[in-house]
Amino acid sequence: MSYTPASADQLLAIKVNAGIAGLAAHERYAAAEPELVEAIVEGIGAFAAGEWAPLNRIGDTEGARLENGVVRLPDGFAEAYRAYVAQGWNAIAGPVEHGGQGLPFALACAVLENLGTANLAFSLLPILTVGAVEALEHHGSAGQQATYLSRLVSGEWSGTMNLTEPQAGSDVGALRTTATPIGEGEHSGKYRIAGQKIFITWGEHELTANIVHLVLARTPGSPEGSRGISLFLVPKFLPDADGTLGQRNDLRAVSLEHKLGIHASPTCVMSYGDHGNCIGELVGRENDGLRAMFTMMNSARINVGAQGVMLAERAMQQAIAYAQDRVQSPRAGSPDRAPVAIIEHPDVRRMVLRMKALTEGGRALLYYTAGQVDRGTLGDGDAKARADLLVPLLKAWGSDVGMEVSSLGIQVHGGMGFIEESGAAQHFRDARIPPIYEGTNGIQAADLVTRKLPLDNGGVFAALMAEMERDTADAPALAGLVKDCAEIGGWMLRDASLDDRLAGSVAFCTMCAVAVAGWQLLRQARAVEAGEAPALAETKPVTVRFFLERIVPEARGLLASATGGAGLLYQLDAKALGG
Ligand SMILES: Cc1cc2nc3c(=O)[nH]c(=O)nc-3n(C[C@H](O)[C@H](O)[C@H](O)COP(=O)(O)OP(=O)(O)OC[C@H]3O[C@@H](n4cnc5c(N)ncnc54)[C@H](O)[C@@H]3O)c2cc1C
Repeated sequence: MSYTPASADQLLAIKVNAGIAGLAAHERYAAAEPELVEAIVEGIGAFAAGEWAPLNRIGDTEGARLENGVVRLPDGFAEAYRAYVAQGWNAIAGPVEHGGQGLPFALACAVLENLGTANLAFSLLPILTVGAVEALEHHGSAGQQATYLSRLVSGEWSGTMNLTEPQAGSDVGALRTTATPIGEGEHSGKYRIAGQKIFITWGEHELTANIVHLVLARTPGSPEGSRGISLFLVPKFLPDADGTLGQRNDLRAVSLEHKLGIHASPTCVMSYGDHGNCIGELVGRENDGLRAMFTMMNSARINVGAQGVMLAERAMQQAIAYAQDRVQSPRAGSPDRAPVAIIEHPDVRRMVLRMKALTEGGRALLYYTAGQVDRGTLGDGDAKARADLLVPLLKAWGSDVGMEVSSLGIQVHGGMGFIEESGAAQHFRDARIPPIYEGTNGIQAADLVTRKLPLDNGGVFAALMAEMERDTADAPALAGLVKDCAEIGGWMLRDASLDDRLAGSVAFCTMCAVAVAGWQLLRQARAVEAGEAPALAETKPVTVRFFLERIVPEARGLLASATGGAGLLYQLDAKALGG
């Protein structure tokens, strides 16, 4: 139940979709030379497959446990995390001035992709830490950066993200945790935090010396709703300015959730300030917390879209191995009546190719988005805006791909897929969370049609559509999908009511994501044809063709859902729907 790192396809995506050579042409990313890029992709692949993948199963069966306030993980996790930190993998894209390597985000994505394919639940720990680094890098004070960043960059300390409360899920503005200024004494200028957060990923554990909680809370008299939210840095242990750990802060994990999947990731109910003495520092400006948290959420959303790719890769590899081995019936269309491996049957072929095409499409979209983020970091405003547009597409569709592919993985296994022993079920259970957290996929689609589509009066969307239109003339179905997306986008911007836009948002989001993924796969196929990635010369043209000829036309079939409007959805009132 191990796996082989998808290094060749990752390298192709990093080259073609992220455009690593263009990034390395800038001084900031000059170190991202081809040899280093290859060394990173192959090195992290070997590390993840060798050290983290073997813990995936035990992480699922034993999971994280809370014992007397301490989170215990199965044997091997602490050593595997130490090895990860010691080898410097956490620091790949971290700021150089704080001990990071300052490499492109696209390479950090490759690191996380490998870790998450090996062990999704475990990979949430570095994903959140990397998000915390970004939030502090952009919004922290010089003092906060000096104390916290180098330790978060190395992975010596970990980060968490605390938004959710029982009454405040998708509606973050409903949160009630409070932050009261401290006027005098040792902690003068800081805040006392009080409240309860739920579903906090890796909220408590002992793999790192300190845990840096980034907590959204309200200061006294702050405006209602999301305009009155501030961001606070709340460490488990209060450090001195030089980072020496001092007193334990007044915060604790009350309980761990019992979940469908990602059992090795402790999902904590966190209580802050039981004894009135939980100390936090304001990050950025008061009442500006959501904007600061969004810095963290954007990269987290990309990484959650990537989780779909991670699980899809793992599930696909396992299903293919099973399909090559399991023998059932002769192939119906063959004169040979000897039973064959199930991979010889047309419907299993369909499933396997679909799994491959969706996984590679998700990866192409992931690295394309990451490359746009990197260009944005280099000062390209158009690329930054395009990345903003792509984030909900990747988060929603990428995580949907994880679900579909891991479900197909079970189907390929037949009855054995439903039996936990086979391991296929774990991927499916783990894959159910990415469409929910980091803003549900419904919320992503709403973000697309209410915030991203209108960016620059629709200019950001129109530029993407125009570029795809120019570049897809040799792929008629894809060109048709691009035209559909452009027309629906125009209708949504000009004519559709808000209800109609939201009613069609999920279908529209899928159509746009499939269009961009198909376009990026087409670019991969051209590069392979031109001699890039010879190891993929045989498979890539076939998976791309499958994507363009089977998956793209299905996405075009969503047109009616995208444009059908809200009328039918409200024909029955809420009571009648339950009757
Ligand atoms: C395993 C796990 C780990 C998590 N980790 C973290 C973490 O580390 N930090 C953290 O802060 N949170 C975390 N979360 C919380 C997660 O982000 C929320 O569960 C998620 O945002 C959804 O909120 P909710 O559960 O309250 O669902 P609700 O907001 O109640 O949504 C329920 C349904 O209604 C839909 N819905 C709600 N509002 C709207 C609307 N306005 N328009 C359209 N549809 C809507 C949703 O799409 C969803 O389908 C985690 C959750 C889980 C399960």
